[in-house]
Amino acid sequence: MARNTGPVCKQCRREGIKLFLKGERCFSDKCSFDRRPYAPGQHGQRRGKPTEYARHLREKQKARRIYGVLEKQFSNYFKKADRAKGVTGDNLIHLLEKRIDNVVYRMGFANTRRAGRQLVRHNHILVNGKRVNIPSYLVKAGDEITIRERSQKIASILESLEAKQRQGWDAWLEIDPKGLKGVFKEVPNVQDLQLPIEPQLIVEFYSR
Ligand code: SF4
Repeated sequence: MARNTGPVCKQCRREGIKLFLKGERCFSDKCSFDRRPYAPGQHGQRRGKPTEYARHLREKQKARRIYGVLEKQFSNYFKKADRAKGVTGDNLIHLLEKRIDNVVYRMGFANTRRAGRQLVRHNHILVNGKRVNIPSYLVKAGDEITIRERSQKIASILESLEAKQRQGWDAWLEIDPKGLKGVFKEVPNVQDLQLPIEPQLIVEFYSR
């Protein structure tokens, strides 16, 4: 299954914003963006005024990078969002939010979406009691996500959950930290996600 294996921190530097792709490191003085807040490469420090096209492109890339989705799959999400009823930009974000790797991350079982993806791929996750190992699997409202019994002592899961417990959970999730499980109660409102993304610009990118 294809995935992006390039340097993670360069993605933040390219987008000119911290995308928080590396868990704890993003909050430490090791953050590459804090040290070099300009685009990578020889001409990275020479940023002129972006064109309209560049603004739309960057917004699409930012969303893609935050959720760890490759180009083709992202464009398929857009087509699906466009066909569905309602506001296309919101539909797109809803699809991305429902991915199981994202839900595992939001529930605190992993400290990044990338780590969430790995938990899914390595068969640690059950949805309504059934094993799911496809990171793009879309969760539905009311689904229960559990850490498989054999995996409930994995240190990284417990540490991540402990850290999340200190921060608190989002309102659309109901978590039982002792039982290592949670319910995806409903699809969140895009405004509640506080993402550094303007979905409308992504719609404009695909409407060129
Ligand atoms: Fe981005 Fe900094 Fe986290 Fe690296 S450490 S992913 S640059 S926020």
